[in-house]
Amino acid sequence: MEIKEALNLIDGRWQAAESGAWGMRRNPADGSELGRHAASARIDALAAIAAARRAFERPQWSQNPRLRQLAMLRWADRVEARAESLARLLTLENGKVLAQSRGEIEAAVSEIRYYAGVARHLPGRVLEVEPNTFSTLLKEPAGVAGIIVPWNAPAVLLVRALAPALAAGCAAVVKPAPQTALFSAALIAELHAAEGLPAGVVNLVSEDGHEVAACLVESEDVDVISFTGSNRTGQRIMAAAAPTMKKLSLELGGKSACLVFEDADVAAVAPRLAAAATIISGQQCTAARRVLVHASLYEPMKAALASALRALRVGPGLEEGMHIGPLIDPEAAATVGARIRDAMEAADEVVVRGEAGTGPLAGGAFLTPTLVAHRDTHAFFVQEEIFGPLLVLERFEDEAEALARANHSQYGLSASVWTRDGARALRVARALRNGTVWINDHNKLFAEAETGGYRQSGLGRLHGYDALADFQEIKHIYQQAGLA
Ligand code: NAD
Repeated sequence: MEIKEALNLIDGRWQAAESGAWGMRRNPADGSELGRHAASARIDALAAIAAARRAFERPQWSQNPRLRQLAMLRWADRVEARAESLARLLTLENGKVLAQSRGEIEAAVSEIRYYAGVARHLPGRVLEVEPNTFSTLLKEPAGVAGIIVPWNAPAVLLVRALAPALAAGCAAVVKPAPQTALFSAALIAELHAAEGLPAGVVNLVSEDGHEVAACLVESEDVDVISFTGSNRTGQRIMAAAAPTMKKLSLELGGKSACLVFEDADVAAVAPRLAAAATIISGQQCTAARRVLVHASLYEPMKAALASALRALRVGPGLEEGMHIGPLIDPEAAATVGARIRDAMEAADEVVVRGEAGTGPLAGGAFLTPTLVAHRDTHAFFVQEEIFGPLLVLERFEDEAEALARANHSQYGLSASVWTRDGARALRVARALRNGTVWINDHNKLFAEAETGGYRQSGLGRLHGYDALADFQEIKHIYQQAGLA
């Protein structure tokens, strides 16, 4: 395997960390070495922030929507042309199966093109507030955006924040997750190579800890932080951002409930729920975590879910026919695995007992899926986001109980409703306190459709037109024009 190197991109130049330090990247499927990334510190972050500030202050970018569109369209073309090698790198570094990596790259290309179009449509408005007195409301770019990305979907989660930031006219400093630093550098390299992108508009600084991220959050020269990650880190960022009053976009955790009503087709629904629960080995914020099923279907659903989960093939993501790859690294497999074992001890019933990889999978961060059944919604494994392949089955007697159970959560990211009754589907979707509700589907995310969290799942929205709001200011210009 060719050793890869992820350098920092600062002011248009690729460079090692000022200290010369490196972090190692390993393949979570077998522990083999993949390459290394710049292990940066505050000094590198400050250089990147200064470069972004200078690039933002020049009008060539921030006031030039046509250039912004062209640069993004060229970026999309370059990513599309290299889609297969990027997908393979994503699978090598993240572990997800190749079909999911390919789908993610395709979605990222589509989303870059969406925001390239949006860059040409940023209208404000003009009102005659009193006779011959005009209020002009302009949408202006917010400034420098610090974008902190997690490892679970490093293509789409980078693009859904960086592309609206660029469309709005911001400059950016991207801080990738260390676990997928090679992939993030490869994706940004295609943007850097896109003709027309001024130096310093997009900077990339990788690190092993979080000194660089903390520097972005605290800096007076960073106007917006767009963070996707865990609630614990989101809370720290919110506290650390308070002194500088910067704009925050926070996309945090979830605990998606799937409500299955008595008219659903169990044989058809169960395999789809099993897939929704184990996408990226259960390491997706919107993954199905709880299946709430009407009492009349409880036993058949339990049996169907168990056999659907057992049918999923666990193995290296590059191997044909696999459904579930390894978790992101051995540390995650150990901590998530321990939490799942705690859940199995405390649950009313263990239906499918997951375990760590054995035999040829023993060298990787593999966990097979677990299904437990439980009544009490206060249980830690019904409330806590456990970022791995664990699914909890619950039963309900009627619609009111289904809603009360589903809404008993600090999270409000996403949920799904499974029924053939259209009125019920809409009524239940309205009553669920979640940013996204799917009807007879799960995990459907689109560049065009805003996603985000109710309650503690976050602040703001990404994807869709309204994502621009996180990267814009509105300026009111007042003018009394007098009588002609
Ligand atoms: P994480 O919070 O551990 O890390 C995310 C990023 O934050 C990384 O780049 C990390 O280096 C950085 N970071 C860590 N500590 C920091 C600090 N003190 N200050 C600033 N930055 C810091 O999250 P993770 O484990 O990488 O990702 C999984 C989490 O992300 C899950 O909770 C998942 O639900 C959530 N997520 C949410 C969405 C969404 O759309 N809502 C999407 C994907 C993932």
